[in-house]
Amino acid sequence: MSITLELEAFVFDGVPGKRPMVLAGPCSAETEAQVMETARHLKENGIRIFRAGIWKPRTRPNTFEGVGKKGLPWLKHVKEELSMYTATEVANASHVFEALKYGIDIFWLGARTTANPFAVQEIADALNGVEIPVMIKNPVNPDVELWIGALERINQAGIKKLAAIHRGFSTYGKSLYRNDPHWQIPIELKRRIPDLTILTDPSHICGNRDLLFEVSQKAMDLNFDGLIVEAHCNPDKALSDAGQQITPKDLKQLLSNLVLRKANVDNAVIMNTLDELRSQIDKYDDRLMEILGNRMIISEKIGTYKKKNNITILQSTRWDELLHQRISNGEKKGLSEEFIIKLFRAIHQESINHQTKVMNE
Ligand code: PEP
Ligand code: MN
Repeated sequence: MSITLELEAFVFDGVPGKRPMVLAGPCSAETEAQVMETARHLKENGIRIFRAGIWKPRTRPNTFEGVGKKGLPWLKHVKEELSMYTATEVANASHVFEALKYGIDIFWLGARTTANPFAVQEIADALNGVEIPVMIKNPVNPDVELWIGALERINQAGIKKLAAIHRGFSTYGKSLYRNDPHWQIPIELKRRIPDLTILTDPSHICGNRDLLFEVSQKAMDLNFDGLIVEAHCNPDKALSDAGQQITPKDLKQLLSNLVLRKANVDNAVIMNTLDELRSQIDKYDDRLMEILGNRMIISEKIGTYKKKNNITILQSTRWDELLHQRISNGEKKGLSEEFIIKLFRAIHQESINHQTKVMNE
């Protein structure tokens, strides 16, 4: 089901469709000198939209929670002295009113805010009748509906210049990323709202500098519109998110290393070859469906048999052995362990559902 939002192009610098649109700046505004120095270096390195957090949603108390409204005049200086656009996070109605007084050009809602419909609605009410571009980060939990809900609430307040920021999702336990990208979720968002501008925030996905390029390149390969990257004049000394921030110079390098591929080509030979390969994929998908359907028929037979003999549906040793065997088999065919586990968990769940159905008949 696709969603209809009333959208206007989210364009800066008057170049529609120019990719990537880039916002950059420190996680937090710390001092006027740090803000001005970072912004100046960013501008020298080609950046036109400056981001900085004024109010910081920190996980634990007694950490740096942002300078608060005293930082707003610093952003106004950036705008006036360097002719840059400015962007900051708003998390409640009073942030909206304060930031508007200082001519901030773009607002964003943070991941923790998007997860809270009361907070989103409060911000939507404060924005009613105001014309300002708003970017909405994905919620901390991997829930595309919650993300869409926040976009709808802000859109219903009359905000038409809307964008989504993909910043990854919390996970429990060890992971390569600070916030798992779950690329399928922004892809689904794009499917549901095709005209929506989507930016990726590699900084909060990675939580470190090493993976920034790889994640940014992936966002470009998925044809997302832009990037919002944390940059600081002295990253190691940053008061928040020090490990993931980069210098304006390193940002320029990262951007110039990106390979930008075209979404569509008008060369008939290329398109025919792609169409041919895609039709092979369609055939394999058909076969997969047929095989899965047949597998479920067997599951139901097993269910009927278990019912007759009074045996429980789930037998964990069998499931454990099956999974190990499938992993080793799948790896031989070039499939990753992570994928095989996800695939077989889904298949196994569907089998249990089929067995439960026949057991209850
Ligand atoms: C930020 O952009 O600095 C921030 C706090 O991000 P998030 O809401 O994605 O955690
Ligand atoms: Mn940050």
